[in-house]
Order: sequence, then structure tokens, then C-alpha cells
Amino acid sequence: MPLDWQRARRETPGCDRVLHFNNAGAALMPAPVLDATIAHLQLEAEMGGYEAAALACERVERVYTATAELLGCEPGELAIVENATRAWDMAFYSLNFQAGDRILTAASEYASNYIAFLQVAKRTGATIEVIPNDETGQLSVSALERAIGDRVKLIAITHVPSNGGLVNPAAAVGRVARAAGIPYLLDACQSIGQMPVNVREIGCDFLSATGRKYLRGPRGTGFLYVRQALIEQLEPPFLDMHAAEWVERDRYRIRPDARRFETWEANYAAKIGLGVAIGYTLSWGLEAIRDRIRQLADRLRLQLAAIPSVAVRDLGRIQSGIVAFNSDRLSASQIATALNARDINVSISSLSSTRLDMESRQQIEFVRASVHYYNTVEEVDRFCDSLQQVLAGG
Ligand SMILES: *Cc1c(COP(=O)(O)O)cnc(C)c1O
Repeated sequence: MPLDWQRARRETPGCDRVLHFNNAGAALMPAPVLDATIAHLQLEAEMGGYEAAALACERVERVYTATAELLGCEPGELAIVENATRAWDMAFYSLNFQAGDRILTAASEYASNYIAFLQVAKRTGATIEVIPNDETGQLSVSALERAIGDRVKLIAITHVPSNGGLVNPAAAVGRVARAAGIPYLLDACQSIGQMPVNVREIGCDFLSATGRKYLRGPRGTGFLYVRQALIEQLEPPFLDMHAAEWVERDRYRIRPDARRFETWEANYAAKIGLGVAIGYTLSWGLEAIRDRIRQLADRLRLQLAAIPSVAVRDLGRIQSGIVAFNSDRLSASQIATALNARDINVSISSLSSTRLDMESRQQIEFVRASVHYYNTVEEVDRFCDSLQQVLAGG
């Protein structure tokens, strides 16, 4: 059954105002998410924040059950935090790296993750190894297999990078990690909400994601999945009175579930909004969402490739809703600014956000046009017409 995109647009207030191809930055929130978030803020204002939280207890818990359904895991394996980077960090900095430990990653790794690798390498003497891509531009699974050996402490890769259409073979990486018994941390920021992502099928031990991108949740939300068997082995880098209990003067006890990676204070309205956003995503179906996004992204890539001065930069065998391109006529920033002036939203991927990949391709920046299921064929066509006008200087 094709996705009822007309209804999706009716339920998305922003669709009337902008042509939004910046879903990889932050997607437009649907009305149910907006309403639930605002309603809780209102409740806090009217009755007090603690009292509102007590009243909304079930709606807050819903974010855990909805995320568990989304990922195919248990609610106790989830921490809801303020963004994907913090989620990722809580897992990464819980691992006890020693000199000589090896971290395996991929060429499209996100800046914040790589900066953390560098910091831990500097502090501990752990080493970072970048697994090369195969001929299609995705991480080479056979190169990863060859790299497995003594001292590999972690495999950490990005599923869908922020700077283009690549989809890394996350499940094949999971099979290698499982066979070798190596912890596997997957950054699923851009894949979550735009395609099915099941942690058991992928075989990852940790997964981090954000709420505001393809899940269409409020900003300032994210989550971490930690496989049950690992939770109690990991001491989070920070603890507070929610993550742990002060049981004697000189002793604390860390809670047994993945909420040990959370803090006591949280944005309850945003948490409720995230729960609604994930429920809303599930109600459309991840296969239907993926198929619709693919159809729009394929059309966009084809039309862009037909514009003489434009080069589409997407890598990989399977491609996502993120379409990266640039032109020899205008810089990516100039293009984005000109499109924004026409109420068309895109963003820019810069060298420093995915440095390994950009340097290896000698690229400075891309325009990133990222489509979602509520976008339309008509918008793709209008986008390409506008781009042609911009490039013609009009
Ligand atoms: C956006 C993004 C992040 C960071 O997410 P935040 O919620 O902003 O912390 C991490 N990794 C990738 C691949 C991203 O695209």
C-alpha cells in the first residue's frame, strides 16, 4: 500500500510554508508531536513541573515502549537523553580503553565521534583504524574481516552518514562483530525513522540516534540502546542520583537498566513529544516510509544528474534519502542561500563534519537535499527548476 502522503502533508503544518529538503538536519514536526509537546509545557506552567510529570507518567513511559518497538529491543535497554552525541558518548566513554587497544571505524564517520576517538587515543594510547570502502563506496566488509584480530576493543561506524546517500552494510558488520565477540557501536542518527532499523537483526551492542531528524521529533532529544548483557558491565562516565543511588556514606549503587546512562533532570515535554513522534513513525510503517523516500530520492538524483554543471556525490550500493551534490558554477553555500531565499530548505555538509571522506574525495562542501515521505514529486521537480534558475544566475 503506498503511503498516504496527502494525509501526511495535511498533518504537517510546515508543508504550507516551505519546501523542506532539510530532513537530515531537522525534519518538520507533525501536528500530533507539536500538540503533545506544547500541551505538556502548558501543564507544567499551570500546575507545576513535578506535578505535571506525575500526571503524565504514562505518556513519558510511552517513549521507552515506542522506541523499543521501533528498534526491536526491550524498554530496559534504552536511555532517553538530550541528543545523539550524548547518547553515543555515554556508551563510548564507558568503555575502558587501554594503550594498544584498537578502535575500528569507517571512512564516513561523523566528526563528533571521531573527535571522541582522538581524545581517547590521546588520553589512553588506544589506536584508531579506518576500514577502507569497497568499490561502491560503502565500508568494505572483507577489509573489516581482515582487520579483526588481537586488541580490537570496539567497532564503531555510522549507518547513514550525514554528508550523502550512502547506507553502510550495518548488519554485515554486525555479523563480523558477533563472530569475533567485539562490541559494536552504531551511529544510526540518519537511518532511524527513514528505514527499518532492528538492533537484533543488525547485531549491534549499542545504537545512538537523535529525535529531530527522520523521526520528526522535537529538538534536544536522542536515545541510546545498550544490549542487556552489557548494561551491568558498563559504568557510565557520569553518574547522578537517577543513574545511581547513594546507599551508604561512601557507597553508591548504579541502577541495573540502561537508564543509568540518563540524568535525573530532563525535558519532559520533549520526551513526550519524542514518544509521540516514534509512535507516529510506526503508524506509517518503516517499509512504506523507506519506499516512498527512495522513490523521491531516486527521482531527485536523476534530475540533478541531468543538469550539466551539477555533480551528484552520493556513494554506496544502497542509497538513502540524503542527496549530496555540488556545482562548478556556484559554491554549495551560495546555492543553499539562494534556495533558502526562495523558501526552499537545504543544508550544507562541510569538510570538517566528515573529514576522512571529504578529504579522500578532495571535496570542500556539498549541498545536502534530504527528502522525507511527506515531500512530493512536484516538490522534487520544483526544486530542480529553482536550482537551474539559481545556477543560471536568475
Ligand atoms: C546529526 C548526526 C549526529 C549528531 O546528532 P545530535 O543529535 O545532533 O547529537 C551524529 N551522527 C550523525 C551521522 C549525524 O548525522
